[in-house]
Amino acid sequence: MQDRILIKDLHLNIGQEVVVAGWVDIRRDQGKMVFFDMRDMSGKVQCVVLPANTEAIEIAKEIRPEWVLKITGKVNKRPEKNINKDQPNGDIELEILKIEVLNKAQTPPFDVRSDGHEIGEDMRLQYRYLDLRRPRMQKNLRKRGEMIQFIRDYLVNKENFVEIETPILTKTSPEGARDFLVPSRLNKGNFYALPQSPQQYKQMIMVAGFEKYFQIARCFRDEDPRADRAYGEFTQLDLEMSFVEQEDILSLVEKLFTEMIKKVFPEKKITQTPWPRIAHKETMEKYGSDKPDLRKNKEDKDELAFTWVIDFPLFTQQTKNDFYHGSGSAKFAPSHHMFTAPHPDDISLLDSGPTKVRGLQHDLALNGYEVGGGSIRIHDRKVQEKVFDLIGFSEEQKNTFKHMLEAFTFGTPPHGGIAPGIDRLLLAITGESSLRELMSFPKTGEGQDLMMNAPSEATPEQLKELGIKTEPRK
Ligand code: ASP
Repeated sequence: MQDRILIKDLHLNIGQEVVVAGWVDIRRDQGKMVFFDMRDMSGKVQCVVLPANTEAIEIAKEIRPEWVLKITGKVNKRPEKNINKDQPNGDIELEILKIEVLNKAQTPPFDVRSDGHEIGEDMRLQYRYLDLRRPRMQKNLRKRGEMIQFIRDYLVNKENFVEIETPILTKTSPEGARDFLVPSRLNKGNFYALPQSPQQYKQMIMVAGFEKYFQIARCFRDEDPRADRAYGEFTQLDLEMSFVEQEDILSLVEKLFTEMIKKVFPEKKITQTPWPRIAHKETMEKYGSDKPDLRKNKEDKDELAFTWVIDFPLFTQQTKNDFYHGSGSAKFAPSHHMFTAPHPDDISLLDSGPTKVRGLQHDLALNGYEVGGGSIRIHDRKVQEKVFDLIGFSEEQKNTFKHMLEAFTFGTPPHGGIAPGIDRLLLAITGESSLRELMSFPKTGEGQDLMMNAPSEATPEQLKELGIKTEPRK
């Protein structure tokens, strides 16, 4: 629409004739005049149709909320007594000259102007495309976009990182969760796994000599949802660097997020800078948590308390409740993952007392949420094999990492990284009620997409092609 302008720019066109397009937000008949608000991606404006404009008034009496219109109108200053100072565009209104109905809308199943907390979530997810019209959801997703854009700009332009995409159809990367499997048609009986994270790929990217990699990466884990974990998939800022020590990673992330908050969430205040660092043992003793909430005033919704947790043990107890999928048969499993380097001072303990070995792991906590984790990696084949042995890997399990062990013999630089979770970071920053409020089309707690109706059955033809037999559904 060539002549269209955005509602936010109307105040630059006072006295002019303009064209806007968007949705009817609310309509009020006032005797002979009709008032309604128009909404586009940039804001809202009050429109008025005067009785003299018989053609437009006819249409205006018919229109309903959520109809899509193209409007020609004149931008007028509101009379002094009608000015609403607290609202954007509260000092202007659009006098309608012409209305063109681009599309009608049936009455939505719920009010899209409220914050949505008053209705059931299933209904919201079924009609997610309407639910996302809410100002709150528009704001959340736009903030998310701004945050990602800031991260990209910063890492590429200020820090010389390169953004590299890695495969979604891949083989499991053992981050401790259950895998999603994808059957292979060309290799019947075999399966891809969706990546729990691009961990192995990003290490290979370091072997390949890129030195500074990042990706806004989608990760897939088939775990039961929790308050701070949405079902199925999430997004992380995955990054990796060569020739670094833990300090370099911590200070990069600290600078990046401090700048990001200043720009994208200027109303927020960071409690303490530089961010405090606390040893795993100390936080467990003092706060009984490995993601302590160090806010000074928990009532202050604008306070952000970032905290680094370091000096984790390399291994933790493997229990039924805290089971590490992808680990070996030993009683302990990696605290972070099996590529985390042992603390150099503790290497000798790998033989005599492995559970006492500290790992070069770092976790980032924010207001009581774990918002990221990473480590310095093993880049020595022998150490990597030793860790595989210690977690009880069989020869067969070891063999699935043959490519990594081999890569380590071709000149692998020392490297390390981290992967802050985008969804969780937003949850902690915004104080929203759930991760799903910050995602476009999340699944329910039962793992369903109620809008698309996924997962769904496959046709017999599809299954046959894949060589798969299913059991009858219960
Ligand atoms: N791959 C790890 C994870 O997803 C992060 C990292 O070690 O960089 O938790």
